[in-house]
This record gives sequence, C-alpha cells and structure tokens, in this order.
Amino acid sequence: MCNDIQSPGLYIHIPFCVRKCPYCDFYSSEDTQQIDSFLDALDHEARLYQEQFKRFGSLYIGGGTPSLLSARACTRLLEIIKSHFTFTESVEVTLEANPDDISPQKASLYRDLGINRISLGIQSFDDEVLKFLQRRHTADQAGRAVSIIREAGFDNLALDLMYAVPGQSESSWRDSLQQALRCTPEHLSCYQLTIKKQTPFHTLKTSGTLKPLPDDAQEELFLQTSDFLRKNGYIHYEISNFAKNKACYARHNANYWLHVPYLGLGPSAHSFDGTARWWNNASVSKYIDLISHGTAPVQKRENLSADQRRLEKLLLGMRTRRGIELDTLSAYPQGKTVLPGLVEKGLLEIFENRIQPTTRGFLVADSLPLLFL
Ligand code: SF4
Repeated sequence: MCNDIQSPGLYIHIPFCVRKCPYCDFYSSEDTQQIDSFLDALDHEARLYQEQFKRFGSLYIGGGTPSLLSARACTRLLEIIKSHFTFTESVEVTLEANPDDISPQKASLYRDLGINRISLGIQSFDDEVLKFLQRRHTADQAGRAVSIIREAGFDNLALDLMYAVPGQSESSWRDSLQQALRCTPEHLSCYQLTIKKQTPFHTLKTSGTLKPLPDDAQEELFLQTSDFLRKNGYIHYEISNFAKNKACYARHNANYWLHVPYLGLGPSAHSFDGTARWWNNASVSKYIDLISHGTAPVQKRENLSADQRRLEKLLLGMRTRRGIELDTLSAYPQGKTVLPGLVEKGLLEIFENRIQPTTRGFLVADSLPLLFL
C-alpha cells in the first residue's frame, strides 16, 4: 500500500484519559498518577521483545490520550522506545492527540522527538455535537490545534471525525466535512457512532433515552460521505479511511489490514507475529503489578492455523479497496460460484486480477467473505 509496508509496526497504548467519553470502549484510566509507574513497566515490557522484534517501519502512539502526557513523560516514552528498538529510515511515527492538549510548545516538542504524523481527534466542528459526545474541546479549539500543528511544520495530519450521532443533522455533518477539508488533512477517518456494550451510551440506549440512527439512514450517510470526499480528491481506501494520495495511507493500520506482524505494548495492546496473536491484560494496575513481579502482562495467546490465517487475510483484505488476489478463491470453491452475482449486484469488482469491494461493498464488507465459504 505504501513504503515500508512490509516492515512490522510498533503500537504503544497510552492507557490514560482525563475523562471517559460516554461512547468509548477503548481501555483507559483516569488515574494519571500512575503515568511514571506505567512508563517503568513499559520499559520492562519492551525489553521482553527486543530480540524478537528489531526494526519497525511504523510507530503508532495511541490510547487513551497520548497528548495528555507532560513534556517530561513524552520525552521519556520516546527514549524508552528508542533504547529497545530500531526503525527504518522512513519510519512513520504517529501520535494521537486531542485538540485541547495541543500548544505550540507541545507541537514543537513532538517534532523534536521525531514524531512526524499527528492524528487529531476532532470528531466534529459542531459544538452541539461535541457537547453531546461530551468531548472536552470546542470547534474553535479544533481549528486552532490544526493551525498550531501546521505551524510547527507537520506535513502529515490525520483528522478523526464522527457521524451518525443522534440529533446531528445532515447539514451539520456536511459542514464538519467541509471545515475538515479546509484544514487540507493528508488523511481523514470518518467513523459512524456505534453504541458499544458497557458504555454509558449503551445504558441510555437500553433505557430508550438514546435512539441511534436507523440503519438505512446510517448507510445513506456513509455513501454520501464517500461520494463527497472522493469528489474532493480523496481516495476511499478502507471502510472508514480516506487519503489524499497513496503515500498518505495510514501505514500502521495498513499493517493490520495486510496481515503484517505488529507488536503492541501497554495495557490491552494486541500483537501478531505472523503465526500467533496475543493481547495484554486491560488494566494499568494489573499491567504494572505483573511486570513488577517479572511476569509478561499477556492475558491470552492464540496460535493460528494456516486455514485461520488465510481466512483472516480474506476478511481483512475485503475491508480495503485493494481487496484480495483473485487466486485466493482457489481455497474457497464456493467463492467462484457466488462471485459473478456479487459483481452483478455492484458489491465487488474485478480489477487486475484482484477482487475489490466497491463503496457499496464496503457497507457489507464484514459479511461478504462469509459468502465465499
Ligand atoms: S474517545 Fe479518546 S479521549 Fe474519549 S475516552 Fe476514548 S480514548 Fe479517551
């Protein structure tokens, strides 16, 4: 998909947030007093893998809220990472940031530390939507954060936006998209609000207080979003992701979709070495405790058979516009039978010996490969 794509990726989960957003099911803790102990533990965990994983093509610092780290903690984090691992010359180093954390000092520190891509969680340029989502920032702060990041010299900026939010009008969403385009981001992720179990929004949904948009309205917004961004020159290269050009595809996430190995460090982080997958305990306290007793914080490990790996590759490949090689179907005889019908329905197309989902195909990307089995 882009340079260094076959080099493994390194993910660091920063498990802290100032306050939990009511729709979010990522693991994070509000106990920022634990940051120093967490960094000590991370140093130990990195040491466990320094022989197994050496040279990475991407580093993604996600969370949680990595931008809440102080200058001292962020500097230490990068020192820890660089002391254990090496990176390719053109490594892509992304840091997830919330707009209200961005200051000229922080942006310039990030540059000095070698971070070359910022993924900014804007979600919306409509203050009413931001209030509903209980985000800490305003639309004005989001715009200011973009200016600061650009002034600091970042030429790779990714914006996260959210739609299908109850109460959000179509024109509010369109306006957010237009304002996002004025920031000329190299990358845009547009996520539909999904109500995840064990979140406050789920409790509200169960009690009938929060009504998600009907499925057909969500699908329509998805198609409109894709159409609008493609008309404005963006490539819709994965279900929720758009890039200005191929060089701007999110390198780290592309590793997941292409089934390239990745190492995840920190509470709840997932790893894959090409044949096995494992993930860490999702609790900062437990993570710190296990490591302080010399135990790896792995919660579970799964060895994948060749069949499982092939199926995963198929499922992940169908989430991207790149799709899968036509030859892949030789392992799934049923696939050859159903393929013409899916092409006729406009869900798939065949291009240069690849089977690729169309924009409509993206809407059913998760179920499409099951038809091949
Ligand atoms: S959405 Fe981001 S800021 Fe909000 S709780 Fe989740 S990780 Fe933290």
